[in-house]
Amino acid sequence: MSVPRSIVARIERDDSSYSSAARSVSQTVLSAPEIAPVRGYEDVSKLTIHDDAIDFVYLAKLETEARSGTAQALAKVVAAHYVAAQFLAGKGSIDAAVDHYRQALVYAPDNVGLLLNLAVLYLHESQFSAALDPLEHAREVTPDSGAEAAAVAKLMGWAYYGANKMDRAIEEWKRSEQLRADPEVEQALAKAERDAAEEEAYREGDTAHFMLKYYGGAAPELAHDILRALEDDFRDIESELDYTPPEQISVILYTEQAFADITHAPGWVGALNDGRLRIPVQGLSSVTPELARVLKHELTHSFITQKTHGRAPTWLQEGVAQWMEGKRSNAVAGALLDAVSRRSVPSLGSLEGPWMGLPASAVSFAYPWSLAVTESIVEQGGIGDISRLLDKLAESSSAEEAVRDALHCDYADLEQQTVVYLKREYLE
Ligand SMILES: [Zn+2]
Repeated sequence: MSVPRSIVARIERDDSSYSSAARSVSQTVLSAPEIAPVRGYEDVSKLTIHDDAIDFVYLAKLETEARSGTAQALAKVVAAHYVAAQFLAGKGSIDAAVDHYRQALVYAPDNVGLLLNLAVLYLHESQFSAALDPLEHAREVTPDSGAEAAAVAKLMGWAYYGANKMDRAIEEWKRSEQLRADPEVEQALAKAERDAAEEEAYREGDTAHFMLKYYGGAAPELAHDILRALEDDFRDIESELDYTPPEQISVILYTEQAFADITHAPGWVGALNDGRLRIPVQGLSSVTPELARVLKHELTHSFITQKTHGRAPTWLQEGVAQWMEGKRSNAVAGALLDAVSRRSVPSLGSLEGPWMGLPASAVSFAYPWSLAVTESIVEQGGIGDISRLLDKLAESSSAEEAVRDALHCDYADLEQQTVVYLKREYLE
């Protein structure tokens, strides 16, 4: 049985999933290749999704008709599952979307458009090994040349890059470039080659949850101690946030110079999480209290990014990361309340996006204010409220809507609650 490839409209890219500061530098997100639009099945998509919901009765009817085995009936049920998958992915219901792709693939196992769409969904979720399955199958059923072969290689490169298999990523992106010039692939390839050259000198470490690379000049005990600290932090954060990231997390330890060279981050960023934890170690030989805080802070970002599918506002990312590393507002509460009364504290709405572009003066309030807001949420409803808020963020259309759903208040209430909290907790 076969279904025309043209049945798959195109691969959607959701830019909003990568809005947090944690992702704003050295993005590894590529745009997805476009596949020719559906022709003749617009009626199926209208009947499958209406009134902002999936019509499961209609889907069941198509399933029954598909048993007849006619090409038309099969094409329709594939189109319907595809539309349902896109609809659910747009709502943030990733697992359910994957289910519908899988069901569509039962009827059209060799449909390259479906396979690539499914892979892109996994890639956006940082599930790199899961993404390789459909990609490998797509490669088997695709000719060795042409736009589709280039698209498969592009996405395979992304999957290998994310999984920290730099040589394979470079190989795939080179293949993609040979098949079809693509400025994005060219850029990603250049970055991967820079990373690979730098990391050649690094020795590797591997544990259940982490894949660690560190500068060859560092003491071997440091790598060992860092992995042990990270494993402890992993268990802590896992139980506090009630979440287990599905993939091994990459950690790269840099000397200060190498760190600045590779990331081009502004001077005030001490460490960075762009999907991998990039930590400057500056010739340390053991895990100092400062380094321990940095490790836990950056690891918290990884958990939050994955739990929210990349939808956490920056104030919550930084608030929770500071809270997890053990920071509290005691030393700054007075100054913060002064700043609030002078109206020089940025609003939560203005702290949702990346902070990389903020002037240093704004950043100096943004961090303590985000921490204070997080403290007040935890004081009000426990760390469980943070966990629930993160779950809501994964499926809400805006951060404030998630706050309303999970905490039953809006940004203005939350800001007011934080002021009251700071006064009561630290000034009385
Ligand atoms: Zn941070």
